[in-house]
Amino acid sequence: MEIFDQDQSRSTLFAELLLPVPIPKYFTYRIPHALNEHLQIGQRAIVQFGDRKILTGLIVNIHEQSPKEYEAKYILEILDTYPSITPIQFKLFIWIAEYYACTLGEVMNAALPVGLRLSSESMVQLNPSFNLEESTLSFSEKEIILLKRLEQDTLSYSDIAKLLDVRSIYSILKSLSSKEAILLFEEVKEKYKPKTERRIRLTKDYVSHEALEEVFKTLESKPKQEDVLLKYLQHVPVLKDKATNAKGISKKQLLDEAASESSLNTLIKHNILEEFEVIVPRFGFDEDAETLPILLSEDQERAQAEIFKSFDEHAVTLLHGITGSGKTEIYINLIRKALDSGGQVLYLLPEIALTTQIVQRLKKIFGSSMGIYHSKFSDNERVEVWNGVLTGKVKFIVGVRSSVFLPFDNLSLIIVDEEHDPSYKQHEPAPRYNARDTAIMMAQLHHAKVLLGSATPSVESYYQALQNRYGLVSLTKRFGEAKLPEIILADMRSERRNKTIKGEFSSLLLRHIHEALDKKEQVIIFQNRRGYSPMINCEDCGWVPKCVNCAVSLTYHQFKNALVCHYCGYKESLPRQCPTCTSSRIKTVGYGTEKLEEELNLYFPETIIQRMDLETTRSKTGYETIIDQFEKGETNILVGTQMVTKGLDFDHVSLVGVFNADRMMHFPDFRSHERAYQLITQVSGRAGRREKAGKVVVQTSSPDHPILLFILNNRYDEFYKKEIQDRHQHAYPPFTRLIDITIKHTDKKTCRDAAHELAELLQAQLTGVKLLGPGEPMISKIRNQFLMSILLKIPRGRGELTQLKHTIFECIEQVLKDKAFKSIRFVIDVDPV
Ligand SMILES: [Zn+2]
Ligand SMILES: [Zn+2]
Repeated sequence: MEIFDQDQSRSTLFAELLLPVPIPKYFTYRIPHALNEHLQIGQRAIVQFGDRKILTGLIVNIHEQSPKEYEAKYILEILDTYPSITPIQFKLFIWIAEYYACTLGEVMNAALPVGLRLSSESMVQLNPSFNLEESTLSFSEKEIILLKRLEQDTLSYSDIAKLLDVRSIYSILKSLSSKEAILLFEEVKEKYKPKTERRIRLTKDYVSHEALEEVFKTLESKPKQEDVLLKYLQHVPVLKDKATNAKGISKKQLLDEAASESSLNTLIKHNILEEFEVIVPRFGFDEDAETLPILLSEDQERAQAEIFKSFDEHAVTLLHGITGSGKTEIYINLIRKALDSGGQVLYLLPEIALTTQIVQRLKKIFGSSMGIYHSKFSDNERVEVWNGVLTGKVKFIVGVRSSVFLPFDNLSLIIVDEEHDPSYKQHEPAPRYNARDTAIMMAQLHHAKVLLGSATPSVESYYQALQNRYGLVSLTKRFGEAKLPEIILADMRSERRNKTIKGEFSSLLLRHIHEALDKKEQVIIFQNRRGYSPMINCEDCGWVPKCVNCAVSLTYHQFKNALVCHYCGYKESLPRQCPTCTSSRIKTVGYGTEKLEEELNLYFPETIIQRMDLETTRSKTGYETIIDQFEKGETNILVGTQMVTKGLDFDHVSLVGVFNADRMMHFPDFRSHERAYQLITQVSGRAGRREKAGKVVVQTSSPDHPILLFILNNRYDEFYKKEIQDRHQHAYPPFTRLIDITIKHTDKKTCRDAAHELAELLQAQLTGVKLLGPGEPMISKIRNQFLMSILLKIPRGRGELTQLKHTIFECIEQVLKDKAFKSIRFVIDVDPV
């Protein structure tokens, strides 16, 4: 009776769900009474969408209002006992969607590991009431109906495609479904699979002295089985403590030691031993944390005290510490303090700097309370970290930009290391977010503190600090006795004139490499171009091979012996003859990392040279292996792209060569000077740690360029002064906000026309906004799509941009109404980097 009464008093509840469909709104479903008490915001639920589709959605709201326009269907099932995301996290997702002008679905897709996402696979089943004799099926339709396996079981689309060895069966299945020969439905599968381990233990009946004695008697003539059992007892002291049997021993370990699998199987068959499965964590979370105090220098001590003081006054503090000044030690102390007071900590690093070096160090200190979130992790590993944060097992995350999506509910500190690094920005696909800026918003939601760290702060962050919106703390001394490296410019113009140049190597750089190697010291050469050479051309007619899909020249990769497009991956073989004039004088132009490596091998045949770029670090451990070998001194020279500039610490590098500074400085982008300053300073910082002062040789044809002089004299302040003037004069960030709109279409004219139409609409609608373009971007065609671009410069102090973004959407919709522009794609990038 009581149950009945309760039912009466229950109200009818509805849940709004975010579904993985390209419609930017929520869908309302009715909650079955039985689930009333179990549903929470943030849980995943299974629902029917349309007539056939079963989808997994996320509950974002629960209320009592039934939808007006349609009758709500029931929620079919809940997938989670606890919410998969936290309320605060959901607020952040909404902010990301609004700020970066994308849909919440796109944010969810980026945020949730595939294992927690919504997957459904269409399944096929024979219709029992279908009569084959009376039907008119085509040959291929019959082939499916007569599949033996379909008679016994339901099969997925892909199963059937495999069985019949055809690629597309979608239309056949559709036709079969319309003839009511088959039934189609969707089967939802949970993708995440925990890692399991097979273990062995004694069955219940044998966990006693007496029983075991009996067994050993019967095994007297079977020494191999006896061995297995003895080994088991050796590792699991069942006789001393019966409880130890419950955990048993890993099957692998037992077999490794006792060796006979067939004897083990016999013991299992006779019910003496049993095999069972347990879920094990993917990470070795057993290490104990180190509790040694971190010793700080006087300068570090002072900076740390200043940071604490700054935290009282500012939500965000910028730590400007020169390379080698020991920022990590300060981070460690701050992290410890935050964890001790019960909060969570997020330590963000740019993608590539997540080296074994720093992770191993932190792991030693923080042990099992620390989790790592990395793009090279498998999806299952990501799910495990996600759940670790959700359940509170993991309190401290070290991770790359996507870590801002993790389900924190009580952050007290976020550290953004190398805050200037452009890899914090996601370019493709949406959400095109910047993890540094998202972290600042995230901290606001959690009432947490943010520490931005860099030796070369971004102009934007430094500006905020000078405006007193952020706190500012500086570290100006290198840790210990270490001195800043001496930077020398190699004047390529005069070397060329004097013919002292070898290939593109200045005599100055070569001489210093010789000297370093003679002293058994290591060398790093930085060249920000991968491949063998960025271009080839015909010496007679000037022909240059171009990508068939993009408006770029192809890069020659000697290792693959192919010409490759770095934008779409298109490949072709190197022609022996020029296709225009049949000349065979085809030459490579310029230096990529491959060619550098090759020439260095010629000049220094005795040395071991390693290359670190996208090609050599594709595998999960590629990067670590190269670093490890270099660290151990097995490699003499390390050649690499900007990967070598980041956060690495080596003891024996006495020379760094910057192969081509000019290209970085003259790159046509308003940030090129900032980038050049950052890259050259960062890579220089790799030279001469500890007691030895290092040397840096920078090859350039413009040795008088102000940027180089700032770098030479280590004058970040001077660099900033000049840069901020330029930005002010040309109305670039931090004085404006930028929104970049890219228009894409396979037809050049359609693309242009749509861009002009959009620009006109925007111009009329937006007041006080400077509109540049439409114009062709530097690369005007990628993957057979022509590109046009419109840049909006929005003065600071305009406040919220929500209205402005709405206007942009409205204008885009207006353009899309024109039939000719129906298949145009628009990409909106807020705060492009
Ligand atoms: Zn030619
Ligand atoms: Zn291409």
